[in-house]
Amino acid sequence: MNLSGSTALVTGATAGIGRAVALQLAREGAEVVVHGRDADRGRAVVGEIEAGGRAARFVQADLTDAADVLRLAERAGEVDVLVNNAGIYRFLPTSQMTAELFDLHMNLNTKAPYLLVRALAPGMAERGGGSIVNVSTLAAAVPTKGTGMYAASKAALEQLTRVWAAEYADQGVRVNAVAPGPTRTPGTDDMDAATLKAVADTTAMRRVAEPAEVAEAIVFLASDRASDITGVVLEVAGGRLGIG
Ligand code: NAP
Repeated sequence: MNLSGSTALVTGATAGIGRAVALQLAREGAEVVVHGRDADRGRAVVGEIEAGGRAARFVQADLTDAADVLRLAERAGEVDVLVNNAGIYRFLPTSQMTAELFDLHMNLNTKAPYLLVRALAPGMAERGGGSIVNVSTLAAAVPTKGTGMYAASKAALEQLTRVWAAEYADQGVRVNAVAPGPTRTPGTDDMDAATLKAVADTTAMRRVAEPAEVAEAIVFLASDRASDITGVVLEVAGGRLGIG
């Protein structure tokens, strides 16, 4: 995978899966725009990339704020690869879900990727091509109690992935998604081990993945190695139960 000469924007790259994606993209030669809210963690990821002899810069933005999303797109400039990774997941029965949490999921998990694709994909097309990878979740396809709001926000993102793939197919821009299963990240750190294991037990391999394993698939889809792949949702989730 040679991404030399390309620029990649990774949202939510200050932690977890996004951080692993940023590090792997840099290793493959891309200059990485590391996005997040926490400037200290952002600087640390940039430092790690620079220590490996690659280039990166940090851009701070709160993606629940549409104006800030557009500011991020502007500050990122010309990007060849966009990884829409930043996201939140709150698991609650519908009766306990609030209107505020509904907006938070939709704004961060669905609307921010929408605004970033709208802002950045036309430039990719004009320059002759690009690649977009959206980070979804296995929960978007497998109904699991308590995941309704989160799953719906990501199911919308998956359908947008297929529509964007169709819209941009003849302009050289590929759009795919990766749907991880349970993965050990700062976001899942505050789940107790039993809960995380219970989620892992809903998959065939019954394990919790490391962020780098999910990043491998994202970086593959982002690269020219996946030149004939668009509009797919690739599950990196240890297998759905019942597959044999
Ligand atoms: P994480 O450890 O919680 O990290 C979240 C990242 O998103 C951080 O970089 C954070 O930046 C950023 N972020 C959060 N809220 C933000 C906001 N309002 N504005 C801008 N950035 C914000 O997450 P993760 O577990 O790696 O998950 C990454 C993606 O994978 C998410 O889309 C998630 O839905 C998906 N996923 C995760 C799992 C899993 O088990 N971990 C499974 C399936 C899917 P700051 O900390 O700098 O604010």
